[in-house]
Parts: sequence; C-alpha cells; structure tokens
Amino acid sequence: MLSKRFSQTSIALLLAAVSGWVQAAEVNVYSGRQEELIKPLLQQFTAKTGVKVNLITGKPDELISRMASEGRNSPADVLISTDVGRLYRAQQQGLLQAIDSPVLTGKIPAHLRDPGQQWFGLTVRARPIVYVPGKVDPSQITKLEDLADAKWKGRICIRSSDHIYNQSMIAAMVASIGEEKTLAFAKGLVANFAQPPKGGDRDQIKAAVAGVCDIAIANSYYLAAMHDDAKDAAIAKQVKVLWTNQADRGAHVNISGAAVAKHAKNKAQAQQLLEFMVDAESQRWYATTNHEYPVLEGIAWSPVLQSFGTFKAEQLPLEQLGKYNAQAITIMDKAGWK
Ligand code: FE
Repeated sequence: MLSKRFSQTSIALLLAAVSGWVQAAEVNVYSGRQEELIKPLLQQFTAKTGVKVNLITGKPDELISRMASEGRNSPADVLISTDVGRLYRAQQQGLLQAIDSPVLTGKIPAHLRDPGQQWFGLTVRARPIVYVPGKVDPSQITKLEDLADAKWKGRICIRSSDHIYNQSMIAAMVASIGEEKTLAFAKGLVANFAQPPKGGDRDQIKAAVAGVCDIAIANSYYLAAMHDDAKDAAIAKQVKVLWTNQADRGAHVNISGAAVAKHAKNKAQAQQLLEFMVDAESQRWYATTNHEYPVLEGIAWSPVLQSFGTFKAEQLPLEQLGKYNAQAITIMDKAGWK
C-alpha cells in the first residue's frame, strides 16, 4: 500500500514538474501603481527571466478588497502598493505571506520592510514642504510642526485627509511626538489652510504658484514629474523644496512596496520579481524615470531629485505608519481636516 501510494505521489510530482516546465512560468501582479509607472520594469523582468507578468492595475484599497473576497482562489501572486499603510492593511487582513529572502533583507534597510518579512519597501518617497520663494522665508520653518503657527494663516495648501499619504504623515507624527502634540499640530495646520482640501499633490503645488497659498505639502516625485512635463515645467520652476526636521527625527518618508500574496500559486516567481525590483538596474530606473529614492545604497538620483538636495529621512520603522493609521484618522477628524 505504502509503495503504491508513494509511486502515485511520484507520478503526480513528475506530472506537475513536466507541466510546469512545459507551461511558461508566469506571475500575477495586482498593482496599485499606475500602469505606466510599473509596466516598463515588468517588461524588463520578463525579458530577463522569461517569466510572463499578468498585470492588473486598480485602486489599491479595491485590489485589497478583491484579494480578500477571492480568498484562496485569488490569482494574485504579488501586491504592489504606493504606501506602507495599505500594505499594512493587507497584512492585517491575512492576505500576505512571509518571504524568507536574504536578497531582500540584505538590500532593503530594516526600517523600510516588515519585521515579519511580509512586505518590502522598493522605493522611498518623501513628502517635503514646497514653497514659493520670495513669499516664504525658509529659515522660518525648521520643523513640520512650525506649519501650525498662526503666521501661516490662509497660506497652506494640502490635499484631503482621506488620502493615505496624509494619514501616514500624521501617523508618523503620532509615533514620534505622541497623540496630544500631533492633535495640536493638526488643529493649527487646518486653521492655516488657504482653502478646503481639494485635488491631488500636483494641484497643491499649482495652487501655490497661482497665488492661492504660499506653501504646499506634496510628495517629491510629483514635483519632479512636473519638471519633466512640458506643460508643468514652468510652474515647477517657481517653487522650492524644504526639508523639515533635519535637526531631529528627519523629513517624513514613505515607501512604495510589494508583498507576496498569501495564496500565491507562483510563489517562486513572485519572490523572483521582488528580488528583481531591488537589483541595481531596477533601482536606477526608479530613481531616474519615476524620481523615487532608491532603497538600495549607491544608486544615483535623477538630476531633478539631486536639485532638491540631500536630506535626513525619518528612520521610523514604517510599520508604525500602519499601526497608528486609525489614530491618525481620528486626529484629523477632530482637527476638522476634511
Ligand atoms: Fe502618488
């Protein structure tokens, strides 16, 4: 009996191996990133490894819900997200699995990945202050907290509190300076809004240049992309970047990152893709084409990113942004941040 069962198993394994070999290897990616910001890299991966990539692009929270409702039938192997807050949500819902990869842990600094190895930062994105020179004396802002000062009344533009970038920024403050001080900051900031929040990060920069406000908060790659964009370059040239908290905790940063799905059918290829994304060539692509900061040491930045200057980044373990997300939302509500 035992030997019969053994031989059946062997045959099954052999068939699986042969069919796996005959069938082209593939990997299914659920991506919360815009297609044009990820597809060229995925094409390079296929060219290099022969692994076909099936890409599904969508709103990150919708992709996470979709994975949850698909359950163990989910075709997703890899989840790509533009904010650690969402990777954390997926992790909390049990949608991810730990990946034991010396390549990933060796190349990605510890604070930019999950201590339980369930998600990994692939690029760093910073959220600096963007200001209009001549209207703002940059020496008056050394900390993000300074933006709560009444002297900036009616002079600040920032997007809605619904957006995870702001939730993560506030969550990072809760982790660093505590709930009470963060609430005071949020109230002061909201009191200084030039207008009710509307539009995305680019819109805040445009509003500053249009004279609606003097200060905008925006992720650095949006401003960098505006420099590259013929219709926005003239606007981008009229603002400067200011890095806050250089004498204490560092400027707020976040990641774009990726994770392997709990029910991945192509786990080996999924891991291979994540490892490919942190190799030097991919990291150079991110840093020059997408204007995101590489997680890998020693990769040159695009000239535009270089023009924004070097800065000390927050070293907070990024899982904290997920942990404090709910508190951040409560604080923003209390502060009246729409
Ligand atoms: Fe973005």
